[in-house]
Amino acid sequence: MRAIRRFNVRTALPEQLAPLSDLATNLRWSWHRRTRDLFRDMDPAVWDRVHGDPVALLAGLSPQRLDELAADPGFVGRVHATADGLSTYLTAPVWYDEFSQTDAAAASIAYFSAEFGITHVLPQYSGGLGILAGDHLKSASDLGVPIVGIGLFYKEGYFKQQLSADGWQLESYPLLDPDGLPLTLLREVDGTPVDITLALPEGRTLHARVWRAQVGRVPLLLLDSDVEANDPSARELTARLYGGGGDQRLQQEMLLGIGGVRALRTWSRLTQAPAPEVYHCNEGHAGFLSVERISELVTGHGLDFEQARRAVRASNVFTTHTPVPAGIDRFDAELVRAHFSGSAQLPGVSTEQILPLGAEDYEGGQDGIFNMAVMGLRMAQRANGVSQLHGAVSRSMFDQLWPGFDDDEVPITSITNGVHAPTWMDPRVIDFGRKHLGEGDIRAAIGWDRVGQLPRGELWEVKHDLRRQLVLDVRERVRESAQFRGASDAELGWVENLLDPDVLTIGFARRVPTYKRLTLMLRDPERLAGLLTDPDRPVQLVIAGKSHPADETGKRLIQEMVQFTDDPKLRHRIVFLPNYDMQMAQSLMPGVDVWLNNPLRPYEASGTSGMKAALNGGLNLSILDGWWDEWFDGSNGWAIPSADPSHDTANSTMDPERRDDLEAAALYDLIESQVAARFYDRDADGVPQRWLEMVEHTLAVLGPKVLATRMVRDYTTKLYTPAAIAGRAAADHDFGLAKDLASYSVRARDAFPHIRIEHVEADGVTDIPALGERLTVRAYVALGGLRPDEVSVQVVHGRATDTDDLQDVELTEIHAAEDLGDGRARFEGTVTLDRTGAFGYSVRVLPRHPGLANVAELGLVVNA
Ligand SMILES: *Cc1c(COP(=O)(O)O)cnc(C)c1O
Repeated sequence: MRAIRRFNVRTALPEQLAPLSDLATNLRWSWHRRTRDLFRDMDPAVWDRVHGDPVALLAGLSPQRLDELAADPGFVGRVHATADGLSTYLTAPVWYDEFSQTDAAAASIAYFSAEFGITHVLPQYSGGLGILAGDHLKSASDLGVPIVGIGLFYKEGYFKQQLSADGWQLESYPLLDPDGLPLTLLREVDGTPVDITLALPEGRTLHARVWRAQVGRVPLLLLDSDVEANDPSARELTARLYGGGGDQRLQQEMLLGIGGVRALRTWSRLTQAPAPEVYHCNEGHAGFLSVERISELVTGHGLDFEQARRAVRASNVFTTHTPVPAGIDRFDAELVRAHFSGSAQLPGVSTEQILPLGAEDYEGGQDGIFNMAVMGLRMAQRANGVSQLHGAVSRSMFDQLWPGFDDDEVPITSITNGVHAPTWMDPRVIDFGRKHLGEGDIRAAIGWDRVGQLPRGELWEVKHDLRRQLVLDVRERVRESAQFRGASDAELGWVENLLDPDVLTIGFARRVPTYKRLTLMLRDPERLAGLLTDPDRPVQLVIAGKSHPADETGKRLIQEMVQFTDDPKLRHRIVFLPNYDMQMAQSLMPGVDVWLNNPLRPYEASGTSGMKAALNGGLNLSILDGWWDEWFDGSNGWAIPSADPSHDTANSTMDPERRDDLEAAALYDLIESQVAARFYDRDADGVPQRWLEMVEHTLAVLGPKVLATRMVRDYTTKLYTPAAIAGRAAADHDFGLAKDLASYSVRARDAFPHIRIEHVEADGVTDIPALGERLTVRAYVALGGLRPDEVSVQVVHGRATDTDDLQDVELTEIHAAEDLGDGRARFEGTVTLDRTGAFGYSVRVLPRHPGLANVAELGLVVNA
C-alpha cells in the first residue's frame, strides 16, 4: 500500500503539474499561505482529511483529478507562478548577502538539536526547545544565514495524547513512514543510501541513514537508525524522541553528536557545500560533536588532545535552555566510559580525556556523573542563555566552573528567544496589517511603529473573528475527545454551546513539568468558578498540555485539571484540549485575548507562547519570568506579582504552598479587577477602546522584539561571526594559535598557584580628591614563571561599601612598566576618579593570550 502511494507522489504527477513536487517537498509551504492554498484548492475535502499535508494530499488524489487539474490552464498557471515564487524566495538577495560582504562572516554554520518543530506534519518535537529550533531554521532561511540543521529522525515522533474517561493521559505513537513525508534520502553518487556508522561497545556497529528535509534555503539532516544492517535493538534506537533511558539515551546522543558530524562531512562531500565554520549545540544533547571533532583533528592533523580541544572550542557555540536540574542530561560516568572504550573507542581520544569534560568535579557537583550541559559549556568558547534573566540565572548556576570569578564575569551571555512571524501570525492579522500599513511587510519588522493608525473598530472585528474561529475549533476537538472518552452523541449536545465568541478568552498551554504550575489556577476552585460564571464579566479558559510519559506527577496535574473542566456547571467556560501541537497552537494563540503564564520564577528560561499571542494582538498575563521579565513595560499586559521578593526560587526559603496561594490570589485579583474590567469596558459601539490601546501598544513595542529574525541576527552578529573568526584564527598556519594556546594554558595552570601580588601602591591624588583626578596604581607581581606580557593585571575599582565590598565595579588594565628580574615585574597605570563617594580598588592578575575570548575562560585568577 505504502509503496503504491509513493509511486503516485513521486512519479505520477502530470508534466504540467511537475513543480508541485518541489512545492510539497520544500517545507516553506508550512509558513507560506499561498502555497498551502494552492494544495488545498486541488481538493479541499482531501486536504482536510490529510490535515493539511501536501505530500499526503498528492498521494491521495485520484489520477482523474490530477488530469483534470493538468487540463485547467488557470490552475497550471498558479502552479508555475507559485513555483517561481519559491525560486525567487530561494535566490533573492537577503540580509546575510550584505552582512557577509565582510569576509569575517561564517560560510556555513551547523546547528545541532535533538528536536525540530517545523510543522505538525513532521512531529519531531516535544515542546519549546524544538519549536525554537524550527523557528531558528526558518528565520535563518528568511535571512539567508547559511545554516545546516542536524537532528535525528524519530519514526514514532513524540506521542499523541488522548484522555481516558477519568482524565488520565494516554499515549500513542503513530508510526511515521518517511517515504510519505517531505523527506529525501541522502544517497551516494552511485545511488546507494548514505550509511553513517558508529562503533558501540562489544564490537557492535550502529548504522544510520540520513534524511534531508528542506526548510526554505536551509537543509536539515536527520539521522535514522531504522536500517536493515542494524540489529533489532539498534533499529529501535531513534524510534522515539527522548525515548528509553540510560544507554539508549546515551547512544541516541552519540549518534546525534558524533554521527551528526560524520553526516555533515558526507553532506559536504556529496554537495560541495562548504564545511561548517561554526558548530552550534542547541542544549546539551549533541555535545559529543566536540569529541568527534577532536578525534578528527588528532587523527587528521596530528594535534594532541589539548591542542585539538582549543581549536574545537573556538568555533563551538553552546546554548543552555533550562535552569531546572531535571532538564539537564546527566549520565552515569561508567556508562560513558563503556561507550568510549574498547571497540567503541574514538580514534585518537581516550576515555581519560573525555570523562573530565563532563565531570561535576566542583563544589556541589556529584561524583561519577557525566553532565552534558557542563561538557557543552567547557567545550564552547561562547555560550548563552535564552533571556536576560536566564542568562543571569545560568551564570550563577554554573559559576563553579569558573571559580574565583564573580557571577557577572561567568562567560555565559544571553540572546532572548523569538518566534517566526510567518509561522505564528494568523493570515487574517497579516492581511489586516498589510491593508492598513501599506506594502511594507509587518512580519519583517516594518510598520510596527505605525500600528496606532489601525482602525480600532476593524481591529476589534479581526480579533472577534479569530476568537470565533478558535471557539469552533475547540468545539470540534472537544466533541472528538468526548467521544473517545466514551460519551454518546446524545450526551454531546452541550458541546454546541461550549465557549462563547464574545467572552474574554484566556489561553494557557504548555508542557506540564511541575515548575509550569498547570493547576495554579485551581488553588481556590470557588474563586475560579466565580470568574468563569460571572454574570456580567465572565472569563473563559482554553487549556492544553502534554506531560512527559514517564512523569506521573504531571499526569496527575492533567487529570486534576480535566476533572475540573468536566464539571457540568463549568464546562461551557473551561476546556482542556488533548494533544497540544503546532496546529493547535496556530489557532489557539491568535484566538485568545490573553495569554496566561504562571511558572515558578525563575525556571521558565524564556517561554515563547506569549510572544506568539502578542504578534496576533493578544495581551500577556504572566509571572515576571523569562522573556516577560525583560519586556513587560507596564502597558503591554500584566505582571502577576511574585510572592517571594528575593526573586530567586532556587534559593527561596519561602514555603512553596504559601507561595502558590499568594500568587494564585494575585492572579484572580488581576483577572477580575484589571483584565476583565478593561475587556468589558465598551464605548457606544461596543468597542473596548482602552483594551485596544493596550493591544496596539503591545504590537508596537513587542512586535519587532519577539521576532526570530531578530534572534537569528543576534546569534549571527554576537556569536556565530566571532566564533567563525576565532575558529579560523585557531586553525590558521597549521593550528599555530591553538597549539600555542594549548601550551600556554598548561603553563598558566602551573604558574598561577605561584603568582603573588607582592605590593600595591597608589599616588597622584590630593588628600581630598576631586572628581576627575587621576590615581596612579603600581603593582609588584611575582609571575610564577610566566613572562610579564603573558599576564593581564587589572585594577578593579568601584564604590566601596561599608562591608568592604565593591559595587558598580569597573576594570582598568595596567601595563608592565619594568622587568624587575628574578621573575618579577612592576605594572603601572592610571585610573580616573569618575564618581563621588567612597572609592575602593583592588588589583588582580589574569591570564593573557590572543586565543582567549574572555578573562575567565581558563578559570585562573590571583587577587591581591
Ligand atoms: C510555542 C510552543 C511551545 C513553547 O511553549 P512555551 O511554554 O512558551 O515555551 C510548545 N509547544 C507548542 C506546540 C508551541 O507552539
